Amino acid sequence: MTKYTQEEIEKIIQRLEKMHPEAHCELDFETPFEALVAVILSAQCTDRRVNIVTNELFKKYRTPQDFASIEQGELEELIKPCGFYKNKAKNIIACAKGIIENFNGEVPSTIEELTTLAGVGRKTANVICAEIFKQDAIAVDTHVKRVSNRLGFVKSDDPYEVEMALKKIFPKEKWARMHHLLIFLGRYTCKAQKPDCANCLLNDMCTSRK
Ligand code: SF4
Repeated sequence: MTKYTQEEIEKIIQRLEKMHPEAHCELDFETPFEALVAVILSAQCTDRRVNIVTNELFKKYRTPQDFASIEQGELEELIKPCGFYKNKAKNIIACAKGIIENFNGEVPSTIEELTTLAGVGRKTANVICAEIFKQDAIAVDTHVKRVSNRLGFVKSDDPYEVEMALKKIFPKEKWARMHHLLIFLGRYTCKAQKPDCANCLLNDMCTSRK
């Protein structure tokens, strides 16, 4: 693990902002429940593909009530391009039913409540808390995990440990922002196979640079 000073952490945030000022959630949605469906669909799928699918899906089905009564086979067909469609369809329907039965039809706003819903793990719950409820939360996906290890913020493959390490390193008001900045770093520069270290503004600080 690399020990960064407070000054270096500030510098890292500033440089990430310089590299990806446009970093933001790339999923399209209008309501908390649509956000939840989009995030569930985004597992192992690009945000672009999810948006293409939800653009059609949300024209017809929008509320937990809509999804609780949809026939699973029909939902599977509609979300097929997102992959793992059988499981995702099953989870979305069960999630909609759980929201109606246990939360009066409203998407809950805590990690503990959200993770009681089908198909909602800690990462998804953190995304919803940050994006919808504007809470200080860091969702750890595959990009965040990889770049956090490469930059030496943590040495762990466990998303929960990575989340806790990032929460210790970065100021609370930056948690949600760091999620987007680290995702964009991982998506466009610090890629899994071929990190573009030559064009990375963190290359003078990163011990994993090539
Ligand atoms: S210097 Fe290379 S390994 Fe380090 S964060 Fe940048 S792209 Fe990733």
